[in-house]
Amino acid sequence: MRWEDARRSENIEDRRGEEYAGGGFGGGPMMGGAGGLGLGTMVILGIIAYALGIDPRILIGGAEMFNNVRGGGQTVERVQRPERQTTAPTDQIGQFVAAIVGQNEDVWAEQLPAQKGLKFQPARLVMFDGATESACGTAQSAMGPFYCPLDRKIYLDTSFFNDMKRKLGGGGEFAYAYVISHEMGHHLENLLGILPKVQRAQQQASSQAQANALSVRVELMADCLAGVWAAHSQRKWQNLETGDIEQAIRTAQAIGDDRLQKASRGFAVPDSFTHGSSAQRVEWLQRGLKSGDIDSCNTFSR
Ligand SMILES: [Zn+2]
Repeated sequence: MRWEDARRSENIEDRRGEEYAGGGFGGGPMMGGAGGLGLGTMVILGIIAYALGIDPRILIGGAEMFNNVRGGGQTVERVQRPERQTTAPTDQIGQFVAAIVGQNEDVWAEQLPAQKGLKFQPARLVMFDGATESACGTAQSAMGPFYCPLDRKIYLDTSFFNDMKRKLGGGGEFAYAYVISHEMGHHLENLLGILPKVQRAQQQASSQAQANALSVRVELMADCLAGVWAAHSQRKWQNLETGDIEQAIRTAQAIGDDRLQKASRGFAVPDSFTHGSSAQRVEWLQRGLKSGDIDSCNTFSR
């Protein structure tokens, strides 16, 4: 994909290279070495979590934290913290992230008012390595990228991109852009008031399976919204190149819960899915890509 000429977002907090010595999990085995955790380690952590009966989402795989958050009114109540000022990233990957966030901001600043009559409020994206603090607890690279609705920030350790490339067969710039836009999709779900509703429903859910089914809908909607972004960014900037869509689809396939679970356990347990199967992720990404329509992403209506 082409992004070099794109405007760079100013909502990037570059915390790479910072020392992190903070709380979170209380200095257990997760701390300390978190910086170097790759997919192999994540898979092992998944097996350990499974054996110990810990929810593996806490340890691996895009542990998206909205589950742990107590929701408030229209959007999730915000934790006010002073914004950290950092200098704009100048390296290649930092500039790429800033460009994709900028393109997301430009598309959503048009499409959210046009389609839903809502003003888009930008999210900040925190680049970090190893571990850093978030309003949802300690962010660690082994969790994969996530969106924290409490501080409205996306947390991204770009070493995840290396894992995608080397171990998931899903590398490439548009695949990385899809990951960033999926997280931005969660921010839109927050602005649309969907996250707090889902949180309330999950608190009332009668079983873990029911709560997981709600998570799957939230995740597939974010995949679809990433597709909506791609559709409009293509219309605006013709930024896609041959093979880009296939690349994102390969990634969606690679990060389906069934694939990841089979890789870690050898079999898949549908009730424990929280992101959706590979086929579902591909289907919803394509739905957004084809329609460019936010309403087509309503995973709760079917
Ligand atoms: Zn997600």
